[in-house]
Amino acid sequence: KKKLLEVEGLRVSFQTHGGTVQAVRGVSFSLHEGETLAVVGESGCGKSVTARSIMRLIPEHIGRITEGHIRFQDKDLTALTEKQMRELRGSQISMIFQDSMTALNPTITIGEQIMEGIIRHQKVSRQEAREQAVETLKLVGIANPESRLKQYLHQFSGGMRQRIMIAIAFVCRPKILIADEPTTALDVTIQAQILDLFKRLQEQTGVSIIMITHDLGVVAKIANRVNVMYAGQVVESGAVRDIFYHPQHPYTRGLLGSMPRLDSERDIPLKSIPGTPPDLFAPPQGCAFAARCEYALEVCGRYQPETTTVCERHRVACWLQDPRAKNIWPQRDEAT
Ligand code: SF4
Ligand code: MG
Repeated sequence: KKKLLEVEGLRVSFQTHGGTVQAVRGVSFSLHEGETLAVVGESGCGKSVTARSIMRLIPEHIGRITEGHIRFQDKDLTALTEKQMRELRGSQISMIFQDSMTALNPTITIGEQIMEGIIRHQKVSRQEAREQAVETLKLVGIANPESRLKQYLHQFSGGMRQRIMIAIAFVCRPKILIADEPTTALDVTIQAQILDLFKRLQEQTGVSIIMITHDLGVVAKIANRVNVMYAGQVVESGAVRDIFYHPQHPYTRGLLGSMPRLDSERDIPLKSIPGTPPDLFAPPQGCAFAARCEYALEVCGRYQPETTTVCERHRVACWLQDPRAKNIWPQRDEAT
């Protein structure tokens, strides 16, 4: 399948009172047509910041893309003007934000909020925009769309509100849908319904999805491929099966704990690993996971591991998988 989006060597920093935080530190990955890529990791690992960078929605006064490229079709999104990005946002690439429940305006009808995107991006009459809004509400599984359009936020349940958020993001039929923890606030039954909706939207329209989550159950249910992020970097990436059944990175293995089954119906929260992620004001010189890693070699504290290929598109950044580790720090073999 064709590559739709390619992120290459992305670095993002934030200026804070305490200094510069290196939130994203050299992230590379690609997204193909019609696939779902899950991005998993603990909070603060840079998954939301990576997503917001693709949308170019990093708060400008504090945050900045300092390096890297984000290629979408024939454009480098890091080089576009804000005006060019505004044309793309919502029409080609859309994002459902983590705090989406507060993103809806309680004083404006749902219809107006869905139509806003159509009117911004397309030269169509209000009547035409209304028809598209009705179509989209149907698509996301809201019954009686004509009358629902005239209603307000408080008239919808939590699950319905999330469907409306998806409708707003999807109304212009973007090629990429980025969803940041879209089911976290919902109860389990509603969660499953919303995930089914994402799947159905993809089957019907071929949209590519980037799903940010800390729930491996969500990954198992919906993703084709996974990026595991830690301390602002992608430490392992591969097909869902590779990640679940043949995890290579000690962090991934830790998250998976006692190897959940892919067909599991229950929720699989990330397992907590002893210790805390490093301070991204002053990231460690070597592997960012070294302080928590039970397999750490001497080389790990000194040099950052490079990404190596396990097989096909399964990649990992860990010295354990890198044959050069022995040459860089041969003492370990001598000691044992
Ligand atoms: Fe552990 Fe070393 Fe691999 Fe880092 S590079 S995860 S410290 S073994
Ligand atoms: Mg987040």
